[in-house]
Amino acid sequence: MVDAQHPPEVDRVAASQKAVAARRARAALKRDISTRVVPPQDVLRRASDDAGSAAGTLRITEFLTALPAIGEGKRDRILAQLDISPVKRLGGLGVRQRRALALWLDERFPQVHPRDGRSRLLVLAGPTAVGKGTVAARIQQDHPQILLSVSATTRPPRPGEVEGVHYYFVDDAAFDRMIAAGELLEHATVHNRFRYGTPRAPIERALADGRTVLLEIDLQGARQVRAAEPSATLVFLLPPSWDELVGRLIGRGTEDAQERARRLRTAKVELAAQGEFDHLVVNDDVARAAAEVAALAR
Ligand code: 5GP
Repeated sequence: MVDAQHPPEVDRVAASQKAVAARRARAALKRDISTRVVPPQDVLRRASDDAGSAAGTLRITEFLTALPAIGEGKRDRILAQLDISPVKRLGGLGVRQRRALALWLDERFPQVHPRDGRSRLLVLAGPTAVGKGTVAARIQQDHPQILLSVSATTRPPRPGEVEGVHYYFVDDAAFDRMIAAGELLEHATVHNRFRYGTPRAPIERALADGRTVLLEIDLQGARQVRAAEPSATLVFLLPPSWDELVGRLIGRGTEDAQERARRLRTAKVELAAQGEFDHLVVNDDVARAAAEVAALAR
């Protein structure tokens, strides 16, 4: 006979393994919320869809403190304002509480509203190691009529990189000359190290020929393009999760630990800027993400 108070050893082991997995899933979800890989509105939606999911079993207190810039004091004031008990889990909120929380989230963390107007100047940005280069290469392969802009950089070439294909590799003096001559649409120092810039002429030629142009650049560059060409379409590529981003950065093995830490710090800052973009695309599958980005071009 099965005794609910004293389950057999195998069941206890299975139950504790399940509890550990659930705790891990909630911890990963909190990282995704705090790094803004997943919008909090999405987490609330998942919680109401499935009360037993990681989102559904997350305590409201933990959910709120995982949000950027919410400490314990603010959390308690928000709970009082929304009339939600601190012992609640996200999946256990009442209809009215859920609606109040959703409204508060929309006000506090506005989501990207896609623009109607389409431009032939597409900017693809996103945090380090999210796979911008791979997605851009895939777009070029599937849509050869789209021009993938080739940047100038002061970074030395990596093995296999070809002058004029991956980058124009220039020294500091040549980069300065390009800036002075107004040859760059935008330029920035990336990861506090090397300079990168987008040559203006090939883009203007391609746009004049009626082609779509894709720039794969960093956040600072994307902001400069927006200022110079307000009609440009800005796309932000997101990782499926923060842990996945860290895994990809470690996996590609092109950076040492110090450089990785530096890039992850930049990634957090970049993720926080996603609201400035016109579209968010999750890079869960390269071909799918590439198709989604290409479809945004006119
Ligand atoms: P990597 O050195 O790995 O090729 O590129 C480092 C970063 O520089 C990437 O985030 C890439 O998007 C960015 N980047 C490449 N070209 C440009 C450019 O022309 N302008 C700006 N602002 N960033 C660029």
